[in-house]
Amino acid sequence: MDVTVLCDAVAVFPEAVEVALPGWSAEHQQWTEANLPGNVDATGGWLLHFHSYLVTSDRGATLIDTGIGPAGGEAANWLGTAGRLPELLEAGGVREADIHTVILTHVHLDHAGWNTAGERPRFGHATYVVQQAELDHARGGPTYERLIRPIADAGQLRAVEGETALDDGLRLLPTPGHTPGHQSVVTERAVLGGDVLVHPAQARWPELTYVYERDPTVAVTSRREVLALAAATGIPIAAAHPHTALDGSALPLVAAGPGDKPCRPYRL
Ligand SMILES: [Zn+2]
Ligand SMILES: [Zn+2]
Repeated sequence: MDVTVLCDAVAVFPEAVEVALPGWSAEHQQWTEANLPGNVDATGGWLLHFHSYLVTSDRGATLIDTGIGPAGGEAANWLGTAGRLPELLEAGGVREADIHTVILTHVHLDHAGWNTAGERPRFGHATYVVQQAELDHARGGPTYERLIRPIADAGQLRAVEGETALDDGLRLLPTPGHTPGHQSVVTERAVLGGDVLVHPAQARWPELTYVYERDPTVAVTSRREVLALAAATGIPIAAAHPHTALDGSALPLVAAGPGDKPCRPYRL
């Protein structure tokens, strides 16, 4: 099994880091600058990557999250940059029709941006897998209507409930808090954690909450569980927004570049 990082975009978070992470302190800043300097831009802003993960094996290709999406989309307008996932897939020799499963960690606009092409599912042969609790939470909202309803209408949406083993050896692990139905994907190479942590300092300080966590207390519990899993198994955590996977001690693993530019595709 191979897990390839596909970096859809890099952008500075539109709000100051101490606003996004209300417990932010000088200690967090110093740790980040020392260990993950690419997370801080020249003006002190928080640099986020928007990573999708491509899992390939002899059983086919699965995509985890679909990035911020095209120019003119809601996420691209919010962040001031457009995604490039289709180009990365093409350059890697992966046709969109070859993707048999798309797993969404959660239904936020920067994780589902390339779900569709016009009014149709972009990945025409794929089953899109989302937790039922996430669909219940998101239904009726603009991101659901634009990026999930076309998938449901095409009969390509699969709702799962709780921990779920998929046919290709991937395991879905509910990690609620950021959103009610947030899930992580456990692979042999890494735990693909979505937004279970958004800033790498949250791997060092899991109690550091993010202002957009729906239930901060539950989010801290999920973060601790994923970090404990990583520490116990030696499998790193690759969340969507840090530019590098992190080991169980919150230290960065090898990445394709320092973090201040979009990553070249690389394998975990
Ligand atoms: Zn996110
Ligand atoms: Zn990246």
